[in-house]
Amino acid sequence: MNTCAIVGINWGDEGKGRVVDLLTENYDVVIRYQGGGNAGHTVINDRGKFALHLLPSGIFREGVVNILGNGVALDPENLWKEIGEVVSRGVSVTPENLKISNRASLLLPWHRELDALEEQRLADRQYGSTKQGIAPFYSDKYQKKTVMAGEMLHPEEMRAHLKELMEWKNLTLSRVYGSRPWTMEMLDAWIRDCCLPILPFVCDTGSFLKQARDQGKRIMFEAQLGALRDLDYGIYPYTTSSNTLAAYAPIGAGLPSLRPEGVIGVVKAYSTCVGEGPFVCEMFGEEAERLREAGQEYGAKTGRPRRVGPVDLVATRYGVEMQAATEIALTKLDVLSAMDRIPLCVRYRVDGQETEDFPFPTELAKAEPVIEYMEGWCCDISGVRRWEDLPQAARDYVTRIEQAIGCPITYISVGPERESMIYRA
Ligand code: GDP
Repeated sequence: MNTCAIVGINWGDEGKGRVVDLLTENYDVVIRYQGGGNAGHTVINDRGKFALHLLPSGIFREGVVNILGNGVALDPENLWKEIGEVVSRGVSVTPENLKISNRASLLLPWHRELDALEEQRLADRQYGSTKQGIAPFYSDKYQKKTVMAGEMLHPEEMRAHLKELMEWKNLTLSRVYGSRPWTMEMLDAWIRDCCLPILPFVCDTGSFLKQARDQGKRIMFEAQLGALRDLDYGIYPYTTSSNTLAAYAPIGAGLPSLRPEGVIGVVKAYSTCVGEGPFVCEMFGEEAERLREAGQEYGAKTGRPRRVGPVDLVATRYGVEMQAATEIALTKLDVLSAMDRIPLCVRYRVDGQETEDFPFPTELAKAEPVIEYMEGWCCDISGVRRWEDLPQAARDYVTRIEQAIGCPITYISVGPERESMIYRA
């Protein structure tokens, strides 16, 4: 595949980062096309263990150009910190291997503050935001109340633009939330300390991509979160504020005509969900605690325990359809090795009726899971590298998921390391 997208099928945290890190071996360009630093992609490779937030997961591969597309929420402060962290561990990040779209909008310093203030106002009705300012950022982007990275190349105009935005935003900060207003001194410090350091990375990534395509370079799109968090097709309002779907990738990447030829959907061998909202297959009690521990299901950004459950075939089938996935990478199969029987959520029951279709968000809150069990394999599979060497019960489990979602499972991961992957042709 010359162009391919790596996307999440479920609620996010499926293990997209490790799949990108592995597959970039065969790619020249990797682009993050939406979302911001509100989630983490964990990558374990020969350089160590990294939790990337905004940087594309191709950053570790020599010769790969990483792009932050116009669709991302570009937080200069956190990006500069993140660059500092990976550079301090020996990873090279230069304008040669990292390019920021001049059309990416900037997450402004008050966006994080507004996120926290709104969650505080909502109190026990919170959305479970990671408070990275993503929702206020995208609202302002669509209101045309932020600035684009390319404006940094015109400092005087950008300062005047920011001043106008600040005066407008101060009305909300002080009169709605009773919070402290921003001043130009504070903004000047933000421009100097956070924006100027990333300026050398800013360029016209659209024309770079066009050239790369014309030269036959192999291009990968990397998504954040999963289909069920997509703003339009997810579990609204418990979604993120951007489009996580592969169909959006060319728009958010910078070259609308560059469609992915293949879409690799990443699915975890069980379900996890961070934050609030309906999570039909959720497990509780000791069984949930054991699964959470076995999978180390704690948020990469917040450390929050993730909600856990069995694989949800209803939600996963929907996610596969929405992502238009052409193949699946099934991750973390090793985590289920200790279970003597493995639960699967095969259908939902809504108002006494069983269904295999994913319901409208309001109905989802009433849905209950229909659970079936399969035999476990009860042995360590983390050293397995070939499909035929997996225990029969593990192969049956994978095949059952594959049949239910109607998409071939071609990669199966059995450990977090780069090489802990089974490729099934
Ligand atoms: P992403 O945001 O989709 O990239 O996913 P995260 O990085 O948030 O979550 C995936 C977590 O699972 C990370 O901690 C990975 O190191 C870990 N992981 C990924 N694949 C496997 C696997 O096959 N087995 C185990 N045990 N852990 C894995």
